Amino acid sequence: MATTPTDYLRQTHHEFLEASEGALASPSLQLILGKLGDTLGKRNRDAWEALPESDAIRQRARNIKDETLAHLAEHLETLEASVVARGGKVHWAADAAEARKIVVGLIQQRGATRVVKSKSMTSEEIHLNPALEAAGIETTETDLGEYIIQLAGHRPSHIVGPALHLSAQEVAEILSKPAGQRLPAEREILAAFARQALRQKFAEAEVGISGANFAIAETGSIVLVTNEGNGRLTCALPKCHIALMGMEKVIPKLADLPYFLKVLARGATGQKLSVYTQIITGPRRAGELDGPEEFHLVILDNGRSRILGSPLRESLFCIRCGACLNACPIYRSVGGHAYGGVYSGPIGAVLTPLYDGLAANHHLPHASSLCGACQAACPVKIQIPQMLVQLREELHHEPGQQSRWESLAYRLWAQSLRRPWLYRLGTWLAARTLGRWKRKSPWLTRLPGKLAGWTAKRDFPAPAAERFRDWWAQEGREEGHDEARSEGQHES
Ligand code: SF4
Repeated sequence: MATTPTDYLRQTHHEFLEASEGALASPSLQLILGKLGDTLGKRNRDAWEALPESDAIRQRARNIKDETLAHLAEHLETLEASVVARGGKVHWAADAAEARKIVVGLIQQRGATRVVKSKSMTSEEIHLNPALEAAGIETTETDLGEYIIQLAGHRPSHIVGPALHLSAQEVAEILSKPAGQRLPAEREILAAFARQALRQKFAEAEVGISGANFAIAETGSIVLVTNEGNGRLTCALPKCHIALMGMEKVIPKLADLPYFLKVLARGATGQKLSVYTQIITGPRRAGELDGPEEFHLVILDNGRSRILGSPLRESLFCIRCGACLNACPIYRSVGGHAYGGVYSGPIGAVLTPLYDGLAANHHLPHASSLCGACQAACPVKIQIPQMLVQLREELHHEPGQQSRWESLAYRLWAQSLRRPWLYRLGTWLAARTLGRWKRKSPWLTRLPGKLAGWTAKRDFPAPAAERFRDWWAQEGREEGHDEARSEGQHES
């Protein structure tokens, strides 16, 4: 089937490089991404500066994650017991297919056909919406950004701003279709239309599906952090609430939660606290005025147990705030869709190969300059650059992933480091050949052969015409002459 330049907005598992070309060629996307560092990125940085002892709080949140993962099975068992004690039910899903089957089965067993959803990256990870649609279940995303991209048939382009890639004009065009009239590109008017359209869906829905930012083992509660009221309506209005969480979302105690609320809001949007923090503990109890009659918690593994025992365990610390995306020069150039997976940006470049296979996503570990901006921005200080290097190393051992040229280059490099005379010869040759350009310009604008890929997008610094060792030796000789001369003068 022929592809269009914007197909990557919808498809997963495409080539990163090809999709990046499409993103770089889109003026409207470049305009949006160009502002990201001064909007969300600046808010993230300002929020840390304004928080006293922010470093200690981030470190505490990181330590809690680390300690929880060390005893994960124990905390998950406590969570299950607490959920059951409060009238809920827990379902365990080994992979995405099992999670989809559980959710679809729960809806069908209740004879339900209409579902509302609040924002959930885990539901994106298991590709839940296509499974619900295939089962004839009408599914409505109720987060404004998710609602817009559902209508457009796009995938989320940012962890906290799924419709970030769309301009106000594009949003107006998308919403004008269900509105049956041309809506102006005015924020209030567009939000008012979405609110009115969604209220009806809330009233009709039989099941509400949410994610969970955290799950508290001690109390059996799930925590939802949002800036829109849709999450509360999704969990409270329908008779049945199904929450879906990755198994790493558990935290041991209610007292641990404030650390995460502080760092999540600041990392996500630069707020001190998100507008709505819901702590949901089981279904409606006798005497309560609202809430669902049933509460189901689906706990997803989908490769997490495997990652837990690997050198990439730290990726399970991620609280999905999106701060690393806002800080990353690659994300800010190509946007989220280019990454191909559900998770984008620096953490997506780690998670997508882990969940969807390294060989199938072989460009992603290289989609980074390893500048470290992601790690500096991350509220739980995840060492993303180190994990990307680890994935690059693992990629080297994947069948069919070795580049002959790259292997040759590294072999030559290793040989020259072992033999000083070879290293000296190499630098001498580079200075004699490439160094000639230096006299004309400090930059090489076109490199030959395989190296042309570098200069297709940026210049390469020309090697110095004179090697450092030659300059040093020359300086030494001149100094020796000077000293000899001055000593001679002194003697005379
Ligand atoms: S890696 Fe860190 S900064 Fe990136 S989404 Fe996860 S928690 Fe946020």
